[in-house]
Amino acid sequence: MRYSEFGKTGKMVSAIGFGGMRFDLAKSQEANAGLIKYAFDKGINYFDTAPGYCNDKSEEFFGTGFKNMPRDKYFVATKLGPAHVANEQEAYEKVKKSIERMRVEYIDFFYVWCIRRMANFDLAMNGGLYDALLRCQSEGLIKHIAFSSHQEGAGVRKIVESGLFEGVLLGVNILNFPYRWDGILAAKEHGLGVVAMNPLAGGLIPQNEGKLQFLASPGETPTEAALRFLVANPNIAVVLNGFTTAEHIDTACRIADAEPMTEEDIARIKAHISGNMTRICTACNYCEECPENIPIPAYMQIYNDKAVFGKTDEEMVSSMKFNHEWGLLVEPRGSAAACIACGRCEESCTQHLDIITRLKEVAEWEAKSQELNKAK
Ligand code: SF4
Ligand code: SF4
Repeated sequence: MRYSEFGKTGKMVSAIGFGGMRFDLAKSQEANAGLIKYAFDKGINYFDTAPGYCNDKSEEFFGTGFKNMPRDKYFVATKLGPAHVANEQEAYEKVKKSIERMRVEYIDFFYVWCIRRMANFDLAMNGGLYDALLRCQSEGLIKHIAFSSHQEGAGVRKIVESGLFEGVLLGVNILNFPYRWDGILAAKEHGLGVVAMNPLAGGLIPQNEGKLQFLASPGETPTEAALRFLVANPNIAVVLNGFTTAEHIDTACRIADAEPMTEEDIARIKAHISGNMTRICTACNYCEECPENIPIPAYMQIYNDKAVFGKTDEEMVSSMKFNHEWGLLVEPRGSAAACIACGRCEESCTQHLDIITRLKEVAEWEAKSQELNKAK
């Protein structure tokens, strides 16, 4: 297992982190807690959870698992969203509840959870959450304040530059990294620790290994390559994996022990993504100047699931709903249906994508997802 410093905190964290969102709820509390200890014995020392994960059981599983682990040898991270608290006092109480459930005296890394747009950040600052975290920090209940974000790179950069955080948790993987990379570089420049979540693109990579074979070096699978791509990157301290079985842990640890990718390896993969996957949007953002303010890179990233992985129309309707609530479309901007077919974006698209045609399909999925919402 490789270890590196989490930002400028002085804490040496394992390259693989235990994401506590995929426990097997059919198994007992002791069995899931045993998985935590198993990971610890394999060298993993970074454990990430949140209230609500696994039907709100995840923090309790960690509490049981931590009983058999020396407190000065591991780091625990949990989270709280700005919209989950009405005021500072409530936020303070919720931090204490997490501490109790995990049977620890303090939390090492506490995340302002899920900043999907700048309004979430403003709420964290003005709605009591950040002040509560400062209070907890002054009382020794938490050590470091961080944030998690689903924004594109520029939004992450703005928050990083506020100077209020020591770490950031970002959804990044080998397929979407161009869209998120500016945030990672900003975090690194400003001395924040970077944790990567969703390293396998929500399961898309293991589910489509045949189509993604080009990502892998000889002797490895695309899934292993996707993990190695992040684990190897000097800008990323921890790669979170949601573990369900001991085999998952074994695989991740094996990759953490593998040779890191060289700059040449990473350059080769980048070239493959734009060179071989001609029907994929690489999120280069060259098309951003749309007169109708349509977030073209976001729509085209979502369209990748259809173009590259052959998702059905029904799945794409669900994907639109998800992306409006949690993903790339949470900021209100021009909708796909507003496209006036001026052609500016297609002229500048580095991938020569048929953006106008794609947006028509996207607009249909979007309309259907909105109809489904109204019907509820
Ligand atoms: S073709 Fe449509 S999406 Fe492209 S720049 Fe013009 S209005 Fe925007
Ligand atoms: S220019 Fe093309 S490849 Fe680049 S972000 Fe826009 S649609 Fe995607």
